[in-house]
Amino acid sequence: MNVADSDRLSRALGTLGLEETKEASQAGLIILNTCVVRQSAEDRALGRLNSLRPFKRDNPQLIIGLMGCLVGIKGNAAMEKRFPWVDIFAAPSDPEPFLRFLGNRIDMDASETWRKQVDDVLDAEFGVTTQARHTVSENLPIVLGCSHACAYCVIPGRRGRERSREPQKILEEARVMVEHGAKELVLLGQIVDRYGLDLENGIHLTQLLAELSEIEELERIRFLTSHPNWMTAELIDGVASLPKVMPHIEVPVQAGDDEILLAMRRGYTNQNYRDLVARIRSRIPGVSIGTDIIVGFPGESEAAFEHTYQLLKDLRLDVAHLARYSPRPNTYSAKFLPDDVPEEEKMRRFRVLEDLQKQVVGEINQQYLGEVQPVLFEGKSKDRWRGRTPTNRLVFVESDVVLLGQTRDVRINWTGPWSLLGDLA
Ligand code: SF4
Repeated sequence: MNVADSDRLSRALGTLGLEETKEASQAGLIILNTCVVRQSAEDRALGRLNSLRPFKRDNPQLIIGLMGCLVGIKGNAAMEKRFPWVDIFAAPSDPEPFLRFLGNRIDMDASETWRKQVDDVLDAEFGVTTQARHTVSENLPIVLGCSHACAYCVIPGRRGRERSREPQKILEEARVMVEHGAKELVLLGQIVDRYGLDLENGIHLTQLLAELSEIEELERIRFLTSHPNWMTAELIDGVASLPKVMPHIEVPVQAGDDEILLAMRRGYTNQNYRDLVARIRSRIPGVSIGTDIIVGFPGESEAAFEHTYQLLKDLRLDVAHLARYSPRPNTYSAKFLPDDVPEEEKMRRFRVLEDLQKQVVGEINQQYLGEVQPVLFEGKSKDRWRGRTPTNRLVFVESDVVLLGQTRDVRINWTGPWSLLGDLA
């Protein structure tokens, strides 16, 4: 979501005539987008922010902006005191304050045209811009914020309540993205399957996927992140029956122990999750399923951790994003549950799951050896073209042909746990 927010703001600034520079010392405007999902992310954001201070000292005309979850949705009075070298603060997914601020810095002659441009960009929710640069795979936020209250999660407090974007805006933005080169759209939401539940027009995610599928030049659609309680049979059927929607589901389990799941306030059990995976797999053959897991949540005993280990071992999922529990300010668990699993034990559990997953994914990927896969190429890494299979596996290919934005059949000739290598078939 942060990548999407940054891209959208960057495109909006480009539309208004600003040019990008790679050197902070040459910039007239620097905006830092921040994540605070874990303490380490927050520490990194603060480190970066502090590193910008000398630039402001050397160039008082420099405008520095701070955006994202470090700012949150609750205003910026405390922030202004804490970071006096920052000129402007903006909540996640809301770059409007930057544009308004810039609007007021422009000289009087140009101000009217400028303000009109700013209004156009704001009206289009930062997305629909004629001078936009688009990458092959574009992130497209469709649900902002989250109204769940998982015990450990800082997101509802920072990104606000759940808000679905109007389908017309999404479709319009999608068309512009595709017109300017995007071949794949990744629809984003904290619980993306809840799309539309807060809108009056009755639209839901499956319908949106069907409508987006009508865009001719669009080749692939993905969506993330799902929640086990909101993945309906209809949505699973939609993924199975809409050819442009890739067989790829990201549905976090977070833990495999029922008591921990209850304490996390996730609203399902180990068995519910296993049943869901079985339903997805029976309806979408060859589907790739990713999950998220937090180890070391308060009260996680060795036996509770074993339940998570066993779940991951049994289900053999395609991806597991692992995290060590870290108490975040103003969350239920930080306030009421003692952080009682020692750091070294959290690390040990993390490594145990990491080793298991590495082995599982290595074995799953071996099945690709010798197969031909349609790969959509997104760019180059060093001298090799980089792309993805429908199941979102990373594939590298050496080729003198320009492959950017093309979907080509690739014969896989090497597999590892994190990527595949191949040749054009
Ligand atoms: S559903 Fe996701 S974003 Fe929402 S509170 Fe739970 S973990 Fe956080």
